[in-house]
Amino acid sequence: MPSIPTTRTATEPRPRVTTGGTTYADIVTAMTSDGPRSYVLRTYGCQMNEHDSERIAGLLEADGMVLADSEDDADVVVLNTCCIRENADNKLYGNLGHLKPWKDAREGRQIVVSGCLAQKDRELVATKAKHVDVVMGTHNVHRAAELLREATSSDVAVTEILDEAVIDDHALFPSALPARREKSYNAWVTIQIGCDNNCAFCIVPAVRGVEISRPYADIVGEVEQLARNGVTEVTLLGQNVNSYGRDLQLAARQAGDADAKLRPLFSGLLRDVGAVEGIRRVRYTSPHPKDMRPDTFAAMAETSAVCEHLHYPLQSGSDRVLALMHRGYTAERYLERLAQGRLAVPDLAVSTDIIVGFPGERDVDFEHTLEVAAAAEYDYAYMFLFSPRPGTEAADMEADFVDPAVAGERFQRLRLVVERSALRKHEARVGRTEEVLVEGPSKRNPDVLSGRTRQNKLVHFTPPFPIRTGSYATVDVTRGAPHFLEGTFVELLAEPTHTIRIPVAAL
Ligand code: SF4
Repeated sequence: MPSIPTTRTATEPRPRVTTGGTTYADIVTAMTSDGPRSYVLRTYGCQMNEHDSERIAGLLEADGMVLADSEDDADVVVLNTCCIRENADNKLYGNLGHLKPWKDAREGRQIVVSGCLAQKDRELVATKAKHVDVVMGTHNVHRAAELLREATSSDVAVTEILDEAVIDDHALFPSALPARREKSYNAWVTIQIGCDNNCAFCIVPAVRGVEISRPYADIVGEVEQLARNGVTEVTLLGQNVNSYGRDLQLAARQAGDADAKLRPLFSGLLRDVGAVEGIRRVRYTSPHPKDMRPDTFAAMAETSAVCEHLHYPLQSGSDRVLALMHRGYTAERYLERLAQGRLAVPDLAVSTDIIVGFPGERDVDFEHTLEVAAAAEYDYAYMFLFSPRPGTEAADMEADFVDPAVAGERFQRLRLVVERSALRKHEARVGRTEEVLVEGPSKRNPDVLSGRTRQNKLVHFTPPFPIRTGSYATVDVTRGAPHFLEGTFVELLAEPTHTIRIPVAAL
């Protein structure tokens, strides 16, 4: 195993607990005699973070802890942070400030800060909030229980940040660790971590490291295991799924493997994962437009389990801004590939991410974004007003920051364009019969069920009899709104086969 650059706090050497197989819960139970310790986990940010949280929870539970109903009951609070969102650091330190009286109210309580912000801020977290017990980075998920255990006998925060993933350790992939999955009928499966791109606005390469693909057989094996446990929908997760396997091929070549020119491809994964018995739906996120390949569209079209939905991040419709962002494609090429996708995959729904007001964006650049958004006819879009993330190239482009009032006005214009196409797309589905994976009662009305179509559209319908979460049903679409569909129940297609409904953690 290569030696891994690591940051530990200046407090080393810290007292280590020699447990000899004793679990964390054993240690603290002995300290408190109050039964198993409990935790709550608050997750911020993207699906990758949510998936990491499932693994942290799984590791804590494997170590004898239980999920608490609320913070009031909990002995441990884990904040799994994200530095993508605006003011993430202020929010974290604000939350930590509120947790100080919580911690002081009961002896033995502990606070863990994990995730991207911990990776970026490192020792600063424990310096600014001295009551934190553990600070761990994005490459340390597998060490969660061990670090918490170490902290029980340390007077100062245990800070451990691995600077890069442990390449030959399968535990580096969150999917390879025990998990406490929030839902038992669908699951995220990590296929790749890190990113080799350098988008000017993005902190991911700095906090998640270089791209590392998970071994092909491990991914398929995990999906087979999930299917045996009753999971019917999987989402393959990576920062740039189309480049899956590039590093595996390189490593194989370096090891002298003559077949290494046969790179394991993402399209192959789609086909093999889609062929696993019991898996009815396969989704993935996110592809990078510059690496989108025809074979991926072909695999989508030819693998019945792969859903007709493509999340295809545009970011900007201006070639000039795309170049400033280092995105590696032009608007024309983006639209060409999108057209190929729509040709190959009938009834393909398309969503996107767009940043409005990137430094240097002029009116004419934004007009191009409007044109591309109109031409792309998105089903929905995640639109963001640019805000600088410390540590990124764009944060240093201060002289070119766009006036917030101008950016705000542009945002509203873009929203109208996207909502128009979304509504058109949704209204076009009225009268169709859609397959829906039931996600549970609607947030607004417990008598109404909500679910997702294969195109990832939210559908609300009233069931004529109780229908379990995780079931598949067909619904006649009766109304299309910009953000959802309404319909009437037709038929129950399949009931979930998982036997345990794992309650959702209150976050
Ligand atoms: S592709 Fe760009 S936006 Fe996506 S994770 Fe990599 S650097 Fe960030």
